[in-house]
Amino acid sequence: MPNSSPANLSKALDRLRPDVRAMHAYKVQGAVGYLKMDAMENPFSLPPALQLELGQRLGSLEINRYPGERQNDLKAALASYAGAPEGSAVLLGNGSDEIISLLALACAQPHDGARAKLLAPMPGFVMYPMSAQLQGLDFVNVSLTADFELDEPAMLAAIAEHKPAITYIAYPNNPTATLWDQGAVQRIVDAVGEQGGFVVMDEAYQPFASHSFIDRMKAEPERNAHVLLMRTLSKFGLAGVRLGYLIGPEAIVSEIDKVRPPYNVSVLNCEAAIFALEHAEVFAAQALEIRTERAKLIDALKTIPGVEKVWDSEANMVLIRVADAAKTHEGMKARKVLIKNVSTMHPLLANCLRLTVGNAADNAQMLAALQASL
Ligand SMILES: *Cc1c(COP(=O)(O)O)cnc(C)c1O
Repeated sequence: MPNSSPANLSKALDRLRPDVRAMHAYKVQGAVGYLKMDAMENPFSLPPALQLELGQRLGSLEINRYPGERQNDLKAALASYAGAPEGSAVLLGNGSDEIISLLALACAQPHDGARAKLLAPMPGFVMYPMSAQLQGLDFVNVSLTADFELDEPAMLAAIAEHKPAITYIAYPNNPTATLWDQGAVQRIVDAVGEQGGFVVMDEAYQPFASHSFIDRMKAEPERNAHVLLMRTLSKFGLAGVRLGYLIGPEAIVSEIDKVRPPYNVSVLNCEAAIFALEHAEVFAAQALEIRTERAKLIDALKTIPGVEKVWDSEANMVLIRVADAAKTHEGMKARKVLIKNVSTMHPLLANCLRLTVGNAADNAQMLAALQASL
């Protein structure tokens, strides 16, 4: 390789968007040899008998054909699993990350003489601002309160001022694991509806939460006709499969579906997801165990000197505050446990670490590494 890049290479690179070149790539930490407690993955693997059966199912697929009708079976299975409201339709995404970009893409048009806006409370999921940036929407960032509750007056004021095309409510939120007050959420939903816009309820952590906004959608379908429910099978236990879905009124979903790449969900993803839903009770038992372990983990964290604060959780993660997050994160890494240092993501997250809830053995190992690293 020559030392200086060829002129054609650098001229080609100059054609890339400067904002893209200035971005940092989404970093997936190398994890071989580590206990992985950084990405809210389900710690359980499929029982061996189901592994075999899944292998046979996948092996017999027509992988020489583009995905086809089988996707409708998956949509029906997801609608029934979620208990979708009547008259709703389902859109499939290659993970909900893809759905987040499709929504931004479909809404990227000027409104009231300004760029379209996308609003979300922060700290929150990084893909919301990223989708806005990449699709040319302005991101409106409304801070949570210091205790990670929704700042309802600030949300309502921002909605009135900015008239966002899309408002995201992660329910529960990542990385704070909070499930906000349903009354406040409904009032925010109403405010968005009044000025015209979509609310996306991102329920990635629904398997671990005490309730879902879907009940409000079913109770008052007209009031919530502009609400889209986004879920994923990732935290459910299929992070490697990549399958997200959006449930909403057919009139909206059919429009968003037009910008979806037609074969975005492979026959392998599709069949694996159908298979998992056929065995939903296996995953429900795993989620129940994780919720039980979560309670024990939170109790244990509260007894550790040096853990200054432990927040309640409605997800398979727990947010804590320590004296020196960078030091603790490095110490745990040296002890072969990966967690997420979220302390530089937002001022409210100063010295905060996000721990995934694993099984009993994983949690014990994580706690020992944490204690030794404070
Ligand atoms: C993990 C997560 C998702 C899931 O993204 P996938 O692309 O479906 O894996 C979506 N929203 C939030 C808030 C998350 O934390």
